[in-house]
Amino acid sequence: MRPTVDGDATPVPTSLLSVLVSWRSTASLDAHAVLLTAGGRVRSARDVVYFNAPRHPSQAVTVDQDPHPGTARLSVSLPRTEAEIVRILITGSGADEPLAALPGLAVSVEDAEGLVARADVAAEPGAWAAVFGEFRRAEDRWWFVRGGPQHAGAADLFTTFGAAVSESAQHRSQRLSLHRNSFATPMPPPPDERPDWHPDPTDAASLRWWDGSRWTEQTVARPPSDPRACPRCGRRRGWRLLGAAPCRACAAEVEDYLSGWRTRALRVLTTTGPSGPDWDELWTRIRRQRIDPDTARAALRGPAVAHLERMAAFALADGTIGGAELERFDATVAALEVRDAAVDELRRSLRRLRILSRLRAGELPVIAVPDLHLDPQERVHLDTAATRIRRSGRGAQASPGRLICSNRKLRFIGPDAGIEIPWARAVSVAASETGVTVAATSARGGAEFDVDEPELVAAIVEGALRVAKRLTVAPGRRDSRSIAPDIKAEVWHRDGGRCVECGATHYLEFDHIIPLSRGGATSAANLQILCRGCNRDKGDHI
Ligand SMILES: [Zn+2]
Ligand SMILES: [Zn+2]
Repeated sequence: MRPTVDGDATPVPTSLLSVLVSWRSTASLDAHAVLLTAGGRVRSARDVVYFNAPRHPSQAVTVDQDPHPGTARLSVSLPRTEAEIVRILITGSGADEPLAALPGLAVSVEDAEGLVARADVAAEPGAWAAVFGEFRRAEDRWWFVRGGPQHAGAADLFTTFGAAVSESAQHRSQRLSLHRNSFATPMPPPPDERPDWHPDPTDAASLRWWDGSRWTEQTVARPPSDPRACPRCGRRRGWRLLGAAPCRACAAEVEDYLSGWRTRALRVLTTTGPSGPDWDELWTRIRRQRIDPDTARAALRGPAVAHLERMAAFALADGTIGGAELERFDATVAALEVRDAAVDELRRSLRRLRILSRLRAGELPVIAVPDLHLDPQERVHLDTAATRIRRSGRGAQASPGRLICSNRKLRFIGPDAGIEIPWARAVSVAASETGVTVAATSARGGAEFDVDEPELVAAIVEGALRVAKRLTVAPGRRDSRSIAPDIKAEVWHRDGGRCVECGATHYLEFDHIIPLSRGGATSAANLQILCRGCNRDKGDHI
């Protein structure tokens, strides 16, 4: 069908034309142009020429980006217009106010000789965007046709002609951007689908934000590979090679951003730990701000170590470490990528206590003892050098030998004589600084041994005793040493997460001010935070 021209059309020369949109106020207006095929639609978003894409690829239409106040200007080259294009709409949208707030709004078209066409725009109430007029190819020449539909906003207007506009442009702020590719082939997702800036499939010079499930409208310039350029904002920084460090402006921005981010990160760390949606969201924010993750981790390091000290103190407080507690600690260390001697030490002590906890609970090794005659179905868990201590009125008598712990009994084999304590006769096991003491049903049935690793030996003996007596460590059952989490939190907070004696912040322990053995309660009032050193000193003097 041949396009037709209605009565309100003026023939224009097929030449380079200047289109001036003018109004009598200081308000601003953005002028744009939409190039349409005979179907009345754009071929792609590239057929919309506007401030973010001020020049049509064919060079037929350019938006002047630096117009005088009260004006907006486009240049339209009809000879350069592709054959497919039969209409060029001259459109505009109010930047801060609706069109009705721009008095004297008019469009004039000039060629080299002067004015060739003019149209006044009568803005409808509520219209923020309008087609002011259009160039139309008909009857083998170009015409300027006055007027056109008015819209609530630019997004609305462009959508009418088949150009998709981002949601952020739907409100009146006209800082819009177009889905460059939304009606061509859909953009493929990036290879790594976590939210990040990825190379923009439609523009090699840009990065586009992928939100984890779809491409968004946000693009940023791709940082140049030039080592003199800031890797974050791309600005050139003179001749000095600064490696990957951001420019001073970016560094200040990053620091500012991280101070708020750190507070948030600590809250997430304390409440949900270093995994899950909240944690992921934190790191998405870092990528979104184009902050080097190492910089963010460095910012988090101090608080992270303090957090790990707290975790360790809480976990160690009841003298046992569950597998979940250890995993959580390790996951936190890994997620934060903390490399720190203090943290390594905490980790070692947690691990050690975890091993002791498992032994005490009856998860015992079985070892071969070829030189020992065993009872049927007897299995040996420990065979270690030990010194038996016998105390009497005349003092202590020490005899060296072997301590062997099995599922049936505890044996001590000395050079002259030995003893056997069947589990039925044993009552409890305790570790001291130098050895272990086994209490028995009769006062004389017990025994005391010095060993190299009292805690380890005591844990194995206790485990064997538990298994033999079918005493399991009931889950959820607290012994008197265990401190309820809210009491731990209260004491930690009250003492400021540091040793009340010396102020140290490393390897902290919950200490019973009046010991449990002397009837001290497991209450906030009777608990305090001590560092390991101060706690040992206290033990020596009590
Ligand atoms: Zn920068
Ligand atoms: Zn201390």
